Amino acid sequence: MARKVLVLGEWKDGMLRNVSFEAISAGKTIAEGGEVIGVLLGESVKSFADALIFYGADRVVAVEHEQLGKYTPDGYSQGLMAVVEKESPDAIVMGHTALGKDLSPKIAAKLDTGLISDVTAIDIEGGNVVFTRPIYSGKAFEKKIPVTEQIFVTIRPNNIPVLEKDESRKGEVESLSPEIKDVRTIIKEVVRKTKEGVDLSEAKVIVAGGRGVKSEEGFQVLKQLADVLGGAVGASRGACDAGYCDYSLQIGQTGKVVTPDLYIACGISGAIQHLAGMSNSKVIVAINKDPEANIFKVADYGIVGDLFEVVPLLTEEFKKL
Ligand code: FAD
Repeated sequence: MARKVLVLGEWKDGMLRNVSFEAISAGKTIAEGGEVIGVLLGESVKSFADALIFYGADRVVAVEHEQLGKYTPDGYSQGLMAVVEKESPDAIVMGHTALGKDLSPKIAAKLDTGLISDVTAIDIEGGNVVFTRPIYSGKAFEKKIPVTEQIFVTIRPNNIPVLEKDESRKGEVESLSPEIKDVRTIIKEVVRKTKEGVDLSEAKVIVAGGRGVKSEEGFQVLKQLADVLGGAVGASRGACDAGYCDYSLQIGQTGKVVTPDLYIACGISGAIQHLAGMSNSKVIVAINKDPEANIFKVADYGIVGDLFEVVPLLTEEFKKL
């Protein structure tokens, strides 16, 4: 069944986030040959439209408004609802990011429709769109078929393969200027806790440290390896609690959920709450002094040793590639 699918393009620091292209790819599968419409919300976002089209959107609706310069639930929901009302889509897709997690329930409630969140795979089976999502902190997966007329999903970053970029694709770019009013939040300033670099939730490689890293300076050793691999640094709650790094780096049940291609766990014991945030990584390498450490149970490759000896050696070797 061909469907009309709206896909929210998410941007940050003047760039479209990779999850936007993954969402377009998800939208294509759901559309089953129907139309995929990219949606951009912001103060000046039309310039992102081409990229959405190159990655598979058939056309783009850009809602530009001074109230949309920074994300607010009131502003974005009014902007997105204006597009939904104009297009009456059969399905809506957005990233399962901090923004998507905040915005999607609000939109689902307004539309009185169901929401399938944190989707990691989409298949068409027997005429149904089947969504796979992790449950019980990633220990199992469930498959869901929407029963509401309108399909609404958020997709977990780094799981749905992006379609090949095709710069010859063309599509209409339309502007929409709805009234946006009664925004109850004013964002005065955004204070960054972490320095610029690869976004943890979208990183293909993560080098994560635990209490075994022992100090803030110890994390510099991990940072050097992450830099050589073009990755990001993450941490266990143990390391954050000890003050070695900021809580924004915490991975796990009460931190970020990540699924990079490569996760290198250094001096992390592998508590269940940590595994909840990283066990679905594609390849896991664990470095730990204790051969009995629980992290080795989920690791594809294990190195029993002192991280302060092993990590610099890895950095030197990767530099040679
Ligand atoms: P430890 O358990 O102390 O492990 C340190 C490891 O480093 C050990 O295995 C040791 O052998 C190894 N080591 C030491 N020195 C070296 C060295 N030189 N070289 C190599 N290895 C070395 N934790 C999370 O991570 N994320 C969460 O989101 C999270 N949420 C939680 C929510 C709740 C409700 C609760 C109760 C707990 C939560 N925790 C979470 C905490 C979790 O239970 C663990 O306490 C925490 O993950 C332990 O961190 P760690 O592995 O860094 O430290």
